[in-house]
Amino acid sequence: MGKISINIATGSLLQSDIIVGIDLGTTNSLIAMVKSDTREPIALREIDGLTLVPSVVHFDADGGAEVGNPAKEYLITDPENTIYSAKRLMGKSYKDMYAHKDFFSYNVIDDGTDALVKVQIGDKFYSPVELSSFILKELKKRAEHILKVNVSKAVITVPAYFNDAQRQATRDAGKLAGLDVLRIVNEPTAASLAYGLGMKGHTERTIAVYDLGGGTFDISILTLSDGIFEVLATNGDTYLGGDDMDNAIVTYWKQTYFPTADIAGNKSLGQELRVAAEKAKKALSADSQFTGSVAGVEVTITLEKFNELIQPILDKTLDCCKNALKDASLTADKIDAVVMVGGSTRVPAVKNAVKAFFGRELYDELNPDEVVALGAAVQADILAGNNTDMLLIDVTPLSLGIETMGGLMDVLIPRNSKIPTKAGRQYTTSKDGQSGMRISVFQGERDLVQDNRKLAEFNLTGIPAMPAGLPKVEVTFLLDADGILKVSAKELRSGVSQTIEVKPQYGLTDEQVEDMLLASLTNAKADISTRALVEATTEAQQMIETTEKFLKKYSGALTEEETATTSASLQALHDAIAAKDKNLIQKRTEELNDISRPYAERVMDSALKEAMKGKKVI
Ligand code: ADP
Ligand code: MG
Repeated sequence: MGKISINIATGSLLQSDIIVGIDLGTTNSLIAMVKSDTREPIALREIDGLTLVPSVVHFDADGGAEVGNPAKEYLITDPENTIYSAKRLMGKSYKDMYAHKDFFSYNVIDDGTDALVKVQIGDKFYSPVELSSFILKELKKRAEHILKVNVSKAVITVPAYFNDAQRQATRDAGKLAGLDVLRIVNEPTAASLAYGLGMKGHTERTIAVYDLGGGTFDISILTLSDGIFEVLATNGDTYLGGDDMDNAIVTYWKQTYFPTADIAGNKSLGQELRVAAEKAKKALSADSQFTGSVAGVEVTITLEKFNELIQPILDKTLDCCKNALKDASLTADKIDAVVMVGGSTRVPAVKNAVKAFFGRELYDELNPDEVVALGAAVQADILAGNNTDMLLIDVTPLSLGIETMGGLMDVLIPRNSKIPTKAGRQYTTSKDGQSGMRISVFQGERDLVQDNRKLAEFNLTGIPAMPAGLPKVEVTFLLDADGILKVSAKELRSGVSQTIEVKPQYGLTDEQVEDMLLASLTNAKADISTRALVEATTEAQQMIETTEKFLKKYSGALTEEETATTSASLQALHDAIAAKDKNLIQKRTEELNDISRPYAERVMDSALKEAMKGKKVI
């Protein structure tokens, strides 16, 4: 560590350029940094000797907040005012959370809308962003206490499947805690970085990151080559983790030692069992037997019994691994390295199962509950310019595009594009004198926007009056390294422009992302024919509009016969559109085009001559 800098006049800590790495976890959070002398990432340790801060916030009667271990105590005595797992609520609407509402012992507010969830404590309402900011504030305070300098810059990690809304919420939480969030990094990417995997100059490697935490399981498949990280696939279960192992022991002990006790009616017995169960589980990561005491009764469990109890949990995680490999079109033998992440991977049976599944030695020397924060610190060090060996690239999970005529999805950034990325395309108006253009931004794989998810909408206004088709509106998508999308539209002839940053109203779960991808596969054929019909119809309607406009303006220039065949042809085209027959629409459009071409050319010719009259040609 460098020198301590205190402003003597004010007694306040001096601004430092330190960038810390933060793992904002569902169960535990922590802060890490790269030591300036040895260049090793280390987890910051407070005088309590601990690196992990439980992601728990307790509110007292006056609205004061306490974070971490002291707050965890209140999970038993004051559950309504003690918030855990706030990460699960980030960027979510009540609709998203409804199916899981029994998971929370505190009050998640349902206002019946798509709006973001809030948590009610007494007469106050807190957003998940605020709740997370309490945890981040505590981490910042700890770091400043340990380092004796002001800490205001951070890299924060999020699960690889977090969408724009969830990443933005995490960024906002950082800002609220007084942190300048320089980068949001995927947790599996961070874990690989902590092991120094993916350094520049290394040959391409495919890595599996197995992350079993307190309440969530994630498996990610990445390729690392020459400092570039790409997420090939993610899978997992957002309600599977170490807590389920604890519950399995609780159930076993209840049956064995308290068969007649009414656990539901005896909260303190239930809680005592849970505390002892976690203790037993941790002990069994080193010993072959655990004996403890619950409500004066001696309880015991062997490693063999524990392994038997948790087998279904292990099987579920391996199923997710299979799915992830399938999504990445890989087999287990194509994985070069397996990185173990999350406190629950300390369980020997977990290690053995994963080792057997992938047939590989595991990267598990670093503390599995610290490895993500350590990697975040490495990324922070890269950003600080101290480490030029790496460059980080992620991909976007779903396509991004805008709505065009007929409700079609026009993709600007296809799914799996490496980010950061930029894409642009030109559009024009469909009506004469059109002064505004609505830009609707969608996310998804379907051909019709109605089947995709709307992210945002805005109007580009102030386009000067011009004939249809003349304005050139350039729409640009800028997807930054954190996965946040900026959309801008500019009319190139006049220069009018407008930009928005897309902060979607509510988040998508990874299941929803999967559902959307699945739906695009099953509907691919229907989508293609719908798109063809919509395109044919749009073209036909434009043809009808131009012809009718022409007839109105130059009615005198047409012979009687021309007028009659044109109106018959127009009617036939209208009928074809009504019949939704793509081939017929195209045929009739061509016919109308053939009929009108001769007189259109004739009229335009004379109009041109008229216009040239009296003009001097130099
Ligand atoms: P998260 O990523 O969800 O914030 P962590 O990676 O910190 O969570 O993992 C927390 C889980 O790890 C808890 O269920 C805890 O009981 C479990 N855990 C911690 N240490 C051990 C251990 N020695 N043996 C088994 N499980 C452990
Ligand atoms: Mg974690």
